[in-house]
Parts: sequence; structure tokens; C-alpha cells
Amino acid sequence: STFNGLGLDPLITAHLTAKMNILKPTSVQRASLSALLTPSDPSSSRDAFIQSQTGSGKTLSYLLPIIQDLLPLSSNSYIDRSIGTLAIIIAPTRELAKQIYDVLERLLKLRLRPQDETPENADADEGGSARLTRWLVAGLLTGGSTRTHEKARLRKGVPILVSTPGRLLDHLQNTSSFNVGKCRWLVLDEADRLMELGFDETVKGILAGLEGRRKLAVQAVQEGRSLEVGGWDWELRRRTILC
Ligand code: AMP
Repeated sequence: STFNGLGLDPLITAHLTAKMNILKPTSVQRASLSALLTPSDPSSSRDAFIQSQTGSGKTLSYLLPIIQDLLPLSSNSYIDRSIGTLAIIIAPTRELAKQIYDVLERLLKLRLRPQDETPENADADEGGSARLTRWLVAGLLTGGSTRTHEKARLRKGVPILVSTPGRLLDHLQNTSSFNVGKCRWLVLDEADRLMELGFDETVKGILAGLEGRRKLAVQAVQEGRSLEVGGWDWELRRRTILC
């Protein structure tokens, strides 16, 4: 079956079909879209725990709800990127972070609805059909470039950030212009590996840095390994209770 009826914005569905050759959801995507594309009532927001095998389409299962959640912010008017970071995806390795970032970049080539286009937001080099990404851009922070360069990037504003844990915590603690006050999504991809690699304290530091500022968290792990995170999963859930 197709994406129809799952509540995905037709703009996104059309983009998946035309540009990414993705015609129907995998089972984990079907499940996560049903769970995460909730109405915009904050009291219905909740954490999710996505468990599925590598290769099952897990990345899109959390990226699609995030993009859809942020879409209304992009339509109609230009929104200043100084709104800060609205979604953070943490991955255990630079390689995985880069892979996620690449998928995100493809997703963000999404076009505005024709009625939303104005001369200001039309990309001359894209045939006059503007990318949503004029505002909704993704950033990758993995310590691959200098700290100064990353700080400058954060100062400009990065609505969706993919990062490795150490570098993210570093910026949360030391980059005053890194604005996470409006951050509403946190994804821990391969959370079990984050723990195996000894990032427990780093992740706790990140959660503490974001506490009270986010509405939703998604924890994505590989099948059958979720219990290895010990007491931490419980703690994550407790910390993400909505206020
Ligand atoms: P992932 O499990 O997120 O690493 O995705 C594995 C591969 O499946 C990637 O190459 C995706 O582009 C692809 N993929 C994800 N979702 C779908 C889908 N609904 N239909 C076809 N391919 C997909």
C-alpha cells in the first residue's frame, strides 16, 4: 500500500515518489508515521521507541515526521533562521551521521507549493521553483571541521542538526550562540551503540542541556538490542514527560 492515508503531507509524498523513487512505506515507516504524525496538540506529543533492523527504512521513519512537523513553519513567510535548532539527531559515528545527513539533504530538496512561491524565495538556479531549504536547512557537526567554523555555522542557525555526541555536548556547553531553546525533536539513532561506545555520560549531558526545552524524543535502535541500554531508557522517558 502507499503513503496515502497515513497523514503525510502530499507535498512530501510527491517528492518521495518523484525524486527519491520511494513509492510505499516500509512497515517501520507505516508504524512510525501513525505514531508520530499526531495532531499538533502538544499534549498528544510523546516519545517513541523505534526498533527495526538496519536497512528497514528507519532513517526516513523519523525524518519524515520531523520534516512534516517543521513544514508549517516554512510556508507562507520567510522565517529567520535565528529561531535556532529545532531538531537534533545524534548518531554514534561520523559515518552514520553523514549517511543520515545525506538522506536529509535529499529530503530537503522538497519544493514549495506554487502558491507559496514569491520572487524572494524562488531559486534562480532551480528553475524558479524554490526549495523549502532556503529556510529549512540541515547541518552536520561531527568535528570534521574546526570548532570555529562550526560555531560560525551555529550562529547563523541550523534548524535540523545531525551530530555525533561529543561534539554536540561541546557546543551545547561552549557555544553561546547555539540556540536550542525551541528544539522540539531529539533522535538518538542506534542508541544501543551510543551506550556500547561509552557515550552514556555524554548523552546524559546532552539531555540535561535540552531538558524542559523539547517536546518529543525518538529513540531508534536496532532490533533485539534495546535492553542493553540498562536503566537509561527509563530515565530518557522520564525526562521527556511533557509540561
Ligand atoms: P535505512 O534503514 O534507513 O538505512 O534505509 C535503507 C535503504 O532503504 C535506504 O537506501 C533508503 O533509501 C531505502 N528506503 C527507505 N525507505 C524506503 C521505502 N519506503 N521504499 C523504498 N526504499 C526505501
